[in-house]
Amino acid sequence: MATYNPKSLHAEDFIHDGEIQETLAWAEANKNNVALIDEILEKARPKPTATGCVCAGLTHREASLLLACEIPEKVKRMEEIAEEIKLAFYGNRIVIFAPLYLSNYCVNGCVYCPYHAKNRTIPRRKLTQDEVRAEVIALQDMGHKRLAIEAGEDPVHNPIEYILDCIHTIYGVHHKNGDIRRVNVNIAATTVEEYQMLKAAGIGTYILFQETYHKESYETLHPTGPKHNYAWHTEAMDRAMDGGIDDVGLGVLFGLEMYKYEFAGLIMHAEHLEAVHGVGPHTISVPRLKRADDINPDDFDNGISDDIFAKITACIRLAVPYTGIIISTRETEAVRSRLLRLGVSQVSGGSRTSVGGYTEEERPHDTEQFDVSDQRSLDEVVRWLMENGHIPSFCTACYREGRTGDRFMSLCKNGQILNCCHPNALMTLSEYLEDYASPETKAVGYDMVQRELQRIPKEKVRQIAEDNIKAIRNSNRRDFRF
Ligand code: SAM
Repeated sequence: MATYNPKSLHAEDFIHDGEIQETLAWAEANKNNVALIDEILEKARPKPTATGCVCAGLTHREASLLLACEIPEKVKRMEEIAEEIKLAFYGNRIVIFAPLYLSNYCVNGCVYCPYHAKNRTIPRRKLTQDEVRAEVIALQDMGHKRLAIEAGEDPVHNPIEYILDCIHTIYGVHHKNGDIRRVNVNIAATTVEEYQMLKAAGIGTYILFQETYHKESYETLHPTGPKHNYAWHTEAMDRAMDGGIDDVGLGVLFGLEMYKYEFAGLIMHAEHLEAVHGVGPHTISVPRLKRADDINPDDFDNGISDDIFAKITACIRLAVPYTGIIISTRETEAVRSRLLRLGVSQVSGGSRTSVGGYTEEERPHDTEQFDVSDQRSLDEVVRWLMENGHIPSFCTACYREGRTGDRFMSLCKNGQILNCCHPNALMTLSEYLEDYASPETKAVGYDMVQRELQRIPKEKVRQIAEDNIKAIRNSNRRDFRF
């Protein structure tokens, strides 16, 4: 019989169904308790310190209560605090990445995913190393520096050796001024030994979406294949961290189960990682179920509105202030705009969700994993971000300097973002503008760079950043990052 224990290594103890049910009942009972809601909102606000500022975060119970609250002015307040936290810890930078689909061979039976083993209508494809190289060149030509590699689970077609070969190939491509500086990996749950291999190959974040925290639904939604095993999947992040991977990325596929249950589970998972490994998740992704080959989202009962989706995002921002939030091109430009104000810190741009998609002209591609709603080019996404006051950042310095896991968190807490990440973002943006941007984007971009340079507090840092940006504009590049 499971008992709730965030420090336990057993999935059913740290994602404890009884604790989630009690949390939801308590949240429902208190959702109009204005005094308590105000107290929680006050706790969530960033507080100044001598060196920067800190944020207490919220427990899964407190955060679930906010999610349950429907009082319009309180929801508005949650959104304001989410933006305050985002600006305090991440500034107005938005990290840019793209997914790279390696293979859609899969032995699992996930009923919401077109790659499920029984789908006979989708062509199966796996990139050769030459094709990986061609895709990476296409991505570098767009300006990407950071990728998330994606693959189905198939020990015959996509064994770990194949994934490692691909990572090696990706890091080895240096086309013109391009290179991929951080490869994040989204592959099925695996063993500590294989996580050690991924770590040795130099990956950034290991990403694995839980899909749903509800065990019974999980088993129904994953009827066959290794992914059917709830404990194996839910305990994967512990194995990844035991294998030496500092940065892990959580996520729920919203639309599969009741969102309040998923939200409580997600925050409990973060609490568990903090309790056991001393560091919470590096990122949380918020994908929503989409139409795809053989998949109709209307067949699932738990779709959420844009308003609920925004509230979930704001509540995640309040609960885990130091965790990055990722929003993909599954969402439209309008939804992405709205969520960017609520604490999102990473977006994908110019994405293709098909195997070989970056080198194919026509779309939609027949191996696409899901419909991409935001089909703009990376150049358009970069310009749109800047026009809305966000600095697109292509920086990967933290990762290269070993500022991962809790070392990155302390940088945030010490308020060093404006002296470190901000100049890095401006320098990498300048590289992008020089190498890849359209004239229109370049004009908007350099206006922003000039303005934003003035916000760097330390004069010496500002001077170095200015000098480097001048050098970049004069094609006299220096590989310098704070
Ligand atoms: N195969 C890996 C695994 O088992 O975790 C992950 C790779 S998969 C390419 C990445 C994610 O896409 C999945 O974890 C799932 O959440 C999401 N996904 C699958 N089908 C989807 C759909 N129809 N709409 C939106 N997202 C979907």
